[in-house]
Amino acid sequence: MRLQIRKYGDPLLRAKGKRIEAVDDEIRALAENMLETMHAANGIGLAAQQVGHALQLTVLDVTQVEDRPSTMTLNGEPVADLATAMPLVLINPTLRLSEETDLGSEGCLSFPEITADIERASSLKMEAETLEGDKLRIEASGLLARALQHEVDHLNGILFIDRMSSAAKVSHGSRLKRLQKETAKM
Ligand code: ZN
Repeated sequence: MRLQIRKYGDPLLRAKGKRIEAVDDEIRALAENMLETMHAANGIGLAAQQVGHALQLTVLDVTQVEDRPSTMTLNGEPVADLATAMPLVLINPTLRLSEETDLGSEGCLSFPEITADIERASSLKMEAETLEGDKLRIEASGLLARALQHEVDHLNGILFIDRMSSAAKVSHGSRLKRLQKETAKM
């Protein structure tokens, strides 16, 4: 089932996600619906907040984007073909970021028509849990590292506009105001 994606101005996007202590049928159904919603919207990531749930749950699939490479290890093993490891469903993810950073273009399903260059750690280590209750360790660089940081930000109520340069925020100012107004009317 496709879910409605919350847009900028919806207060839920600012809510910090609650830790998931046990995966039940409701969480499994939510994750499945989030995957369907993300793929239908041609997104590469979707956080629970974006569909109305303040939970530490996010889904990702970077294989939609072919011209921005990633590297990945999964539980210590290099993943040669990312498609074999996607999509990812991540529960309670935590990140350790590299000091080195990159500037790269980002968009967000909660901010239609807005993209901006955002500075992010170039690589990271992530720990999370799977729907099956297993521990998951991922090391990532490139687009996957960027997408993971964007999604984990969502789980903590942080939005990519918070990390935009002030110049980018000014240039997107009127679009952001319009989006907030449209959301308030819904
Ligand atoms: Zn987003």
